[in-house]
Amino acid sequence: MPDDFFKVQRPLTPEQWSFLSETTLDKWLGARPASVAYCARCVQSNQRPRIEFDNEGVCSACRYWERKGAIDWASRDAQLTEILNRHRSKYGSYDVVVPGSGGKDSAYVAHQLKTRWGMHPLNVTWAPFTYSEIGMRNLQAFVHSGFDNLLATPNGQLHRKLTLLSTALVGDPFLPFIWGQISYAFHIAKLMDIPLVFFGENGEAEYGGSTETENLSGMPTSAWSDNYWKGVTPTKMVQIGQDMGLISGEEALSISRFYFPPDLNGGPRSLENYWYGYFTEWRPQDNYFYCAEHTGFAANPEGRSEATYSKYASLDDRTDGFHYYFGLLKFGVGRATSDAAHEVREGLIDRDEAIALVKRYELEFPDRNYDFFLDYTGLDRDKFEVLANKFRADHLWVQRNGEWALRHPIWETQAT
Ligand SMILES: [Zn+2]
Repeated sequence: MPDDFFKVQRPLTPEQWSFLSETTLDKWLGARPASVAYCARCVQSNQRPRIEFDNEGVCSACRYWERKGAIDWASRDAQLTEILNRHRSKYGSYDVVVPGSGGKDSAYVAHQLKTRWGMHPLNVTWAPFTYSEIGMRNLQAFVHSGFDNLLATPNGQLHRKLTLLSTALVGDPFLPFIWGQISYAFHIAKLMDIPLVFFGENGEAEYGGSTETENLSGMPTSAWSDNYWKGVTPTKMVQIGQDMGLISGEEALSISRFYFPPDLNGGPRSLENYWYGYFTEWRPQDNYFYCAEHTGFAANPEGRSEATYSKYASLDDRTDGFHYYFGLLKFGVGRATSDAAHEVREGLIDRDEAIALVKRYELEFPDRNYDFFLDYTGLDRDKFEVLANKFRADHLWVQRNGEWALRHPIWETQAT
């Protein structure tokens, strides 16, 4: 398919552009600490939303990792056994919904539930904006390794508009994906009367975030809006799009219901959701090796992903580099930091190696799909620059010789 298929022919009016270029909605931007600090153990920054640092300068993700060493895994295993025994179907009908795009983590969960626990998972996928070649290949490999899958792909024109709004207002192109990724799974569970949903890991606890959910076995629906959606629900965004004349009334009426969380209160059976990573130790690299062996998962044939050194995480979407890039602009935390921080915790690399990797890759621009991203959102390079710079906070960024630089990068502030 030629790339110009994805081109948006929709010039913004001056009023629309001035609103987009001047308005900022991410509720976590105001919560950034004024001075930058890095975890004394890993390489994570105190700017990461909701992360907590204790008085020894250690981040909540590292403390969580430490506490995980004391978890009674046998007791967690018994809890999992009880849950699955209660739900396992006798005659082979679906008994658990596993949301996933074909990546290593969801494939691992589905494969474990099926082969280790004798469950009958239905895998559900909320489509990436546009599948990368390797992402689609991995989804196909997963399905062909023995799984049923439902793939929901929302209206491509409306999805572009929501992506433009999310990029410009929230600084996260992924928001429309994240809405559907959570909501769609619960819709299918409800529609098909499968009252059990298994996600992968509790990202807040594993990678640094709020400690409130640390001891929960599943995702509290009350946390969706603030923690996962940055305070911007799909309802709110569609309304903004309508108010600025970007989304028509007819489009708003016909928008897929799968963006919006379903009402989980009604119905004869209550719906349970869990993180598989609550019951068993969660190691992303092990999931990669596991899926390479069992579900045909392949790493990125183009080598490492841009702005990091890894080649097996977050590969499905051609726009994923921009999700990480805007995180770097807003919080000074990019893709290399995200990968290196958990690898330090897992003991795969030491902190000095991590700092060297962050220094080498963190600031790399996701050039490979830049033109594609501009076509998809209808932005041009000038407008993209305006939006990018809007999200650079003064306490994080400085211009030196016409180039943007981090004021306090870890490689300059930490002795190695
Ligand atoms: Zn840490």
